[in-house]
Amino acid sequence: MELAGKTAVVTGASSGIGAATVRQLRAAGVRVAGGARRVERVAADVALPLDVTDEASSRAFVDAAVEALGGIDILFNNAGLALTRVPFDESTEEVEATVLHTNVDGVLRITRLCLPHVRDEGHILFMGSIAGRQAYPHGASYIASKFAVRGFSYALREDLLGRPIRVTTVDAGLVETEFSLVRFGWDKEKADAVYEGLDPVTPDEVAECVLFALTRPLHVNLDEIVIKALAQSSGARVVRREP
Ligand code: NAP
Repeated sequence: MELAGKTAVVTGASSGIGAATVRQLRAAGVRVAGGARRVERVAADVALPLDVTDEASSRAFVDAAVEALGGIDILFNNAGLALTRVPFDESTEEVEATVLHTNVDGVLRITRLCLPHVRDEGHILFMGSIAGRQAYPHGASYIASKFAVRGFSYALREDLLGRPIRVTTVDAGLVETEFSLVRFGWDKEKADAVYEGLDPVTPDEVAECVLFALTRPLHVNLDEIVIKALAQSSGARVVRREP
């Protein structure tokens, strides 16, 4: 599958995996509309403000992206976050609402708004997580949200069966981005400790998975890709080098 000349919409394009995917898509000749709240950090052909938790913002984003691109060949639902790592009896309404509104409602909303503009031979991709396949302690709202993303990708594949639109989820383990900074309220020491003594996957290595799925022959749907650091066996287990 040749990507040059295609168009793409990428959410969460201001950082980490989203930013790396925008770079790689553009390098492959794709015209990309990227959205995030920190729009000034989005290095796409069309950089647009986007808050996926807000319906009006999401509508304005999709309208402007479609207007600029003329149609959508690729949608990468990547925006997402985790907040805190605490036992569930210490969870709060605010944390649960923010995580679920971003990772679940946001993904359904952006997909629903984009779908009428996705062209035949299009491809919808989701950024999932190994947290959506197996639980680990003290991450309940995030784990629930990523299980929902995987469930939604299955449901969407059912509803699109018979149409020439592919659906792929990329489920990653530890990837060094701003993810842990966000999760721990920008506490750099706590965030760095997550990746200490192991070689985490890089955002570019995840973006390569996205591009691999996109470039399979059109009759091939790569349903799920799971990518983890060699030093990680599950969300709960890693081995770290001695300091
Ligand atoms: P990141 O560096 O923190 O990037 C997260 C992106 O999501 C940012 O561009 C952020 O942009 C955007 N975002 C967050 N809330 C948003 C909102 N309400 N509206 C629009 N955009 C929003 O983290 P990342 O690791 O690249 O995360 C990308 C995806 O990968 C997420 O879905 C995450 O769950 C998933 N993931 C990450 C890991 C990991 O270990 N890093 C592992 C598995 C899966 P603004 O803040 O500028 O809005």
